[in-house]
Amino acid sequence: MRIILLGAPGAGKGTQGKLLADHLHVPKISTGDILRAAVHTGNELGQQVKAIMERGGLVPDPLMIQIIKERLQKEDCRHGFILDGFPRTVAQAEVLRQEDVAITHVIEIVVDDAEVLKRLSGRWTHPGSGRVYHQLYNPPRVAGLDDVTGEPLVQRPDDQEETIRKRLQVYRQQTEPLVAYYKKFTQENSAVHYVSVDGCQSIESIQQKIVAKVD
Ligand code: AMP
Repeated sequence: MRIILLGAPGAGKGTQGKLLADHLHVPKISTGDILRAAVHTGNELGQQVKAIMERGGLVPDPLMIQIIKERLQKEDCRHGFILDGFPRTVAQAEVLRQEDVAITHVIEIVVDDAEVLKRLSGRWTHPGSGRVYHQLYNPPRVAGLDDVTGEPLVQRPDDQEETIRKRLQVYRQQTEPLVAYYKKFTQENSAVHYVSVDGCQSIESIQQKIVAKVD
């Protein structure tokens, strides 16, 4: 199972990716999480990408390509993986193709811009696990704390309205072309399946639809 999750920021890629990863026993690889960890550590990569991420831009392709190549070589990817946030440009998708990464499914989660704004402005994350909550739609049992570990939840610095609008604009211009790219790709490759789900349903209902297609 080598799965790509496509969708605007806030579509639910992190939430659905985590549920699907647990179901399939494969890692969910979030390039955003990798970059945030580097920013948190303050290493060279973190220093390079911090400002770009804070203003909602895309980290340059050569850097992202190097990061993903290294990550996919790790032992835990041997039996598959779920990519959340990569590829984000056609150039990044082309690298997966050139490297013969045999994708099995492309799952697109569809949401509109108004929904994204509503969701991201109330989003809280548990940094250790990637679990995602929303203060209105999916609140933790105790406000501000992770349900499983009880550790504090954080809000992402790029989840502010102005930055969300910028990320949406970047998504429509640079990432959304991948919808057509992968639809064509899956039509030409019968081993690859394209799944499109409406992201404006309950978390459980979206999960059931995805699992039904992937199983
Ligand atoms: P995410 O957590 O997927 O929303 O990613 C957060 C931020 O990390 C994005 O707004 C970008 O600045 C950066 N980023 C993550 N993945 C990529 C990628 N594949 N290409 C370029 N930038 C990325």
